Amino acid sequence: MLSKPLLPSAYSRCQNKSQFFLTQRGADEQFLSRPVRQRDRLPPVLRGHGHMDFDHTFCIAYRTNYSRNNRANILACHQAVKDRPQVIQNAVLNLELALRGAQTERHSGFRAPRILLYVAHAITLIPGDGIGPEVADATARAVEATGVSIEWDRVDAGVEAEKATGKYLPDTVLESLGRTKVGLKGPVGTPIASGHSSINVALRKRLNLFVNFRPVRMLPGLKTRFADLPIDMIIFRENTEDLYAGIEHEVVPDVVESLKVITRVASEKIAKAAFEYATLEKRKKVVAIHKANIMKMSDGLFLRCCRETAARFPGIEYSELIVDNACMQLVMRPETFDVLVLPNLYGDIVSDLAAGLVGGLGIVPGANLGDNCAVFEAVHGSAPDIAGKGVANPTALMQSARLMLAHIGERDAAIRLQKAIEKVYADGKHLTHDVGGSAGTKEFTDAVIAALR
Ligand code: NAD
Repeated sequence: MLSKPLLPSAYSRCQNKSQFFLTQRGADEQFLSRPVRQRDRLPPVLRGHGHMDFDHTFCIAYRTNYSRNNRANILACHQAVKDRPQVIQNAVLNLELALRGAQTERHSGFRAPRILLYVAHAITLIPGDGIGPEVADATARAVEATGVSIEWDRVDAGVEAEKATGKYLPDTVLESLGRTKVGLKGPVGTPIASGHSSINVALRKRLNLFVNFRPVRMLPGLKTRFADLPIDMIIFRENTEDLYAGIEHEVVPDVVESLKVITRVASEKIAKAAFEYATLEKRKKVVAIHKANIMKMSDGLFLRCCRETAARFPGIEYSELIVDNACMQLVMRPETFDVLVLPNLYGDIVSDLAAGLVGGLGIVPGANLGDNCAVFEAVHGSAPDIAGKGVANPTALMQSARLMLAHIGERDAAIRLQKAIEKVYADGKHLTHDVGGSAGTKEFTDAVIAALR
């Protein structure tokens, strides 16, 4: 279900052909003055239906006069949105409920001219710790400036949540993600060598977000040591096991063991994800990165799964690199890498190395993807050294939001946001300190929003 009561039990009044405003009775106040956008790009399946408006960017507006076509319209709607995100499908469900409610009212003698259903994407926003709230707010502003309607369900995890609820990962976070299926998350701090275990790892494991997806690309105009190289690589890091299984114990005093867990199921899933992506995006090469010369069983199993998967994708060139050699090659010839697939720990380390090639942690986006849920987050941490100073670079989270927009079907908005970020970098006048500029978080964000218009 949607995170907020989006369904107006109220009726609408038509302002003009392309704008509707919700009226009274239970509709959330904030929706009362929002226009439904133009009915451009009506999906073909809906074009024949006079009763329906469909806004390609975010909403279904549905009107009915209780005609006998209602059922047909709903079915058409189901058909049109079957590949759309869950939130839209929920909206259709709500639509059916609305119709049932309306029919009841009709029988009681009250005749309404139409029902309007207004739907926004429900997204869980987890601002996080340190610079998290600063970059999350900046990103939310930029996303809203694309014109896509988002209902943010803001929930806390990390230090702030612990202060309020006594828990670093309160149930509200998982409940919200269970509802919305999509999250945008700022960084959350984890104490080193003691204290609570990582919330990020817990979230990935609890929601089975088995893919960590990190595209690493050079932004135009950015001065880095590798600025003249066409770096464009995609990292697929397994996200749920390996040494991050968090199984550690002290065998005897001063002797500890950490278990490295590698399973066929998880290894096959990440390998399949990498090859399917490579095929879909017309990438040429996948390289599996490992240390199977030493960890013959665990990394050996990971590698076997990659080889077996590679055999099913003959159109993609497959190779293997031992992780230490891979790190050297990444620094010496980063432009030769295309798609990389790695177990969890190597993936974590190599992701930061790759981020360093294209301007640092403030730049690179990330997505944690599972079968039922996706959480988008930057690669960087909570940066306690600069928290609260208004200087954090929100690019990484904005780029993560760009991935999120594409994921929820808002490809146009995703491309516009990407181009706006690139324009600000190409101009070079409003860059943050970490990438050689002197602007603060707000100034950079304002520039991105201006470039969107
Ligand atoms: P970090 O990424 O927080 O900081 C490393 C360096 O990069 C710092 O100098 C910081 O100022 C700079 N930096 C990072 N992000 C920046 C940004 N957006 N703009 C400008 N500069 C930026 O890494 P760390 O210091 O190793 O970790 C700090 C905390 O973050 C730890 O508790 C760690 O566990 C946590 N962490 C969380 C995540 C996550 O939530 N996904 C990821 C990594 C680390």
